[in-house]
Amino acid sequence: MLRIALPNNGRLAGDTRELFEDAGLDIRGPSDRALTASLGGEFQALFVNAQDIPEFVADGAADAGVTGWDLVQECQRGLQALLDLEFGRCRLVLAAHEESGIASLEDLPRAPRVATVFPRSAARFLIGLGREPEIVPMSGAVEVAPHLGIAELVVDLTSTGSTLKMNGLRELATILESSARLIAADLPRDPGRTRALNELVVALSSVLRARGQRYVMVNVPRAALPKVKAVLPGLTGPTVVDILNGGDFVAVHAVVQAEAIYRTIAALKVLGGEGILVTRIERLMP
Ligand code: AMP
Repeated sequence: MLRIALPNNGRLAGDTRELFEDAGLDIRGPSDRALTASLGGEFQALFVNAQDIPEFVADGAADAGVTGWDLVQECQRGLQALLDLEFGRCRLVLAAHEESGIASLEDLPRAPRVATVFPRSAARFLIGLGREPEIVPMSGAVEVAPHLGIAELVVDLTSTGSTLKMNGLRELATILESSARLIAADLPRDPGRTRALNELVVALSSVLRARGQRYVMVNVPRAALPKVKAVLPGLTGPTVVDILNGGDFVAVHAVVQAEAIYRTIAALKVLGGEGILVTRIERLMP
């Protein structure tokens, strides 16, 4: 049995559940509040706070986990990211109160006071800049600290930067870029555990890969095939299928980048494409 620690609530919980369900690992528990649930097969989910997941995995209470890379870096234990799950994107930034007179890293005093939920990451970054920070650890609402005179700097997570701006804070530097990751401990190799972890990585990555792609089917004049192939490269080249009573037309199927789909459709129409059908892909394993 491979135990996987998953966020029980908060920002990462919904996307995590959706990804696991898309990968066929349905969370089958007696209730939404359960501490554990079967994911089918040899996988079991363990629901905990995203903040606690790095320690859980490092201590061996879970074999793998899903949590933010910011939390993994803060934990400073022997953990590795097996897969970037591409959601929960944010940045850990150093910011200063607009009225502090600190407009860039060069303006930092020798011993700045920094309010943060990330004391280790904040200290490591500022010590790396040759400063001797005084860290004020907080458990949340860090952006109010400068207004209360508790600290002139904050180290906090942001995705758009708007909350920082709204609170009169100016970004000075990005300390790290984060997103949700599948993590595991750096442990000696156990063949059974390694195989199960690999299966999990393959299942999740096939869903992530498929999300950025679409399957396109189109009928095109046979004479246009050379040009259609340039528009629809596909994974290993498009599939070309004869159409019953199709005459001069053939059906072409290919996998294309989702973000380029509008351009692809327009180009196919110019080449005489008809009956264009675009579908989502559940999983993609090259
Ligand atoms: P939670 O406290 O359980 O809601 O989860 C917080 C985690 O969500 C953080 O550690 C980040 O990895 C991630 N996250 C993504 N965007 C943001 C954001 N704008 N602010 C805070 N956390 C974020």
